[in-house]
Amino acid sequence: MIGCRKTSVIGHDISEFIQEPGLLDMIEKAIHQPEDTFAEITDELIMPAAKGREEMIIGIRCIPFRDRLSRNLGSVTVFHDITALKKIDQMKSDFVSMVAHEIKSPLNSVLMQLNVVLDGLAGELTEKQTEILNRISDRITSLTVLSTELLDLSKIESGLINQDREDLNVYELIRDQVISYRETADAKSIRLVLKETGKGARMMGNRVNIEEVVSNLISNAVRYSPNGGKIEVWAHEKDNCVVIQVSDTGFGIPAADQEHIFDRFFRVKNEKTRYITGTGLGLAIVKSIVEAHHGAIEVESTEGKGSCFKVVFPKSEYQI
Ligand code: ADP
Repeated sequence: MIGCRKTSVIGHDISEFIQEPGLLDMIEKAIHQPEDTFAEITDELIMPAAKGREEMIIGIRCIPFRDRLSRNLGSVTVFHDITALKKIDQMKSDFVSMVAHEIKSPLNSVLMQLNVVLDGLAGELTEKQTEILNRISDRITSLTVLSTELLDLSKIESGLINQDREDLNVYELIRDQVISYRETADAKSIRLVLKETGKGARMMGNRVNIEEVVSNLISNAVRYSPNGGKIEVWAHEKDNCVVIQVSDTGFGIPAADQEHIFDRFFRVKNEKTRYITGTGLGLAIVKSIVEAHHGAIEVESTEGKGSCFKVVFPKSEYQI
């Protein structure tokens, strides 16, 4: 893969054969990992085209190699050529975003013209006509939401490598999201509370993406709660991880459905939720983002009592 023969590399420094700074950095980090930790460093790298081969996308896993006394002797790095997989994924994402985009523009134009009619600018409407047109308008709005979410999902999925990451103040980020949902929660007399924990919590992440995660979880908590409930949002640090939690006293999720809610297009179907509109894409987007940040998401929920979503991000960029 790196275009060298075994005999020509033995006894040489690895940097003579590999120039990728990202990869050298991973190996360096693995070799200098403290004895009391054992973290597998994983990443995806694009290897530019070189003599005799095309550009490759490589899945890389790197671990320290130790002796019996836990001293670092070196590192073991495994390359997995995932170019073909990524290409298929990219084609699928391009297709989805093309379709979603092509649907979104005409729908917006239909919606605008419908509003002209609804506003009475094309002549007076009867009550019945207004009612029907309002129903049409609602359905078209749901379709535009669906195409926006499909576009988001494919954008996120295709942009997961080489993302801009920055040092985020997690408390401030979730506080801003809580503030932006306050009005929606008030309208349903739901108490939306930000707990005063984890004020110093920081993590490396893509700001827009992490905001989307928190926003989706709070939005779901509000939407899937009856009037008058309580939603709590908080962050804290634990075992070198940043944990973000959103709990609600809402409808809850039936046990059998809990393993499916992160699947695309999955929506729980029951009497309580059937009138709540949605696409079933929100949590799939959340999960893609969380995994791209080497994190994990889980849910605890009891039907009729409420749900708690917990997202855990490792603080270092390693997956531990
Ligand atoms: P959407 O909300 O658009 O349907 P999501 O992917 O965000 O899509 O959620 C999938 C399903 O999971 C929802 O349809 C809902 O049934 C369930 N769900 C998500 N969050 C909650 C919650 N906080 N409480 C109860 N059910 C939830």
